[in-house]
Amino acid sequence: MKCSKCSEKAVIKINYMGQALCEKHFRRFFKKRVRKTCKGLIKYDDKVGVAVSGGKDSGVMLHLLSKQTDPEAILIDEGIEGYRDKNVENAKKVCEELNVPLNIYSFEEEYGFRLDGLDDKNLSRGPCSYCGVLRRSLLNEKSRELGFDKLAIGHNLDDEAQTGLMNFVRGEFHRIARMGKEVGVVEEEDFVKRFKPLRRCPEKEVVTYGLLIGLDAGFDECPYVKQAYRADIRDSLNDWEEKYPGTKFSVLNSSDELAGLIEDEFRGEIKKCSECGEPCAGDICQKCSMLREIRETL
Ligand SMILES: [Zn+2]
Ligand SMILES: [Zn+2]
Repeated sequence: MKCSKCSEKAVIKINYMGQALCEKHFRRFFKKRVRKTCKGLIKYDDKVGVAVSGGKDSGVMLHLLSKQTDPEAILIDEGIEGYRDKNVENAKKVCEELNVPLNIYSFEEEYGFRLDGLDDKNLSRGPCSYCGVLRRSLLNEKSRELGFDKLAIGHNLDDEAQTGLMNFVRGEFHRIARMGKEVGVVEEEDFVKRFKPLRRCPEKEVVTYGLLIGLDAGFDECPYVKQAYRADIRDSLNDWEEKYPGTKFSVLNSSDELAGLIEDEFRGEIKKCSECGEPCAGDICQKCSMLREIRETL
């Protein structure tokens, strides 16, 4: 297979463009897309934080952002044995190579328990629900303390299309309203604005790019991920993409378009949590109500 732009050997086939690209042309194409995605989202004097996990997405993202900005990395250690501890080592290595300061915070130190220590039989939801909320909340709080103006999140096109489709199928319009290029953007000073440099990059391309730059990344999925629903949505999207190349982009575009139309109606008012003072939609934030539930079972 030859590159569609030159006579070199192709390293990847990009079906939705009907092209194959060699290493040089693919790297150029990939970097250009990420630059374009970030355009207008970061100002030259912004202090940019990068949420890293030790996995391939955040590793690739950090590589690219470290060339454009002067970022700091932030990692949340949820306390998942055999998974996060390995990935923490990975993240340390990547940050060291790129000369990026790494700030690590753990559930254990901040909340007093590890995710492994949850008593899942007596909790109303699966561990991923708690982990997602608690991690996001800690990321926001610590990013603010570290003085980040923006926080980069490593979701790729596959993640974004899955989430968009899931929200749509479930009729969760308030979630769609909060998606888009800049997520969680509410004109509220306590929210650190988040952006997703890789949201227009298919997972396959992120993996290929990571291999080409010699990224040593943890590819393992979190052992707690048993979200059957998301897995079904992922498989369906992959089938459609195979049959109708470009489907993932269309789903993302539809979701973004819809978010713009409905944001005022569904985004809701932002109040302050009566317990911790963090921004939230109700009287008490999700983090505080979850912590309360967890602590009752410990
Ligand atoms: Zn080429
Ligand atoms: Zn709270």
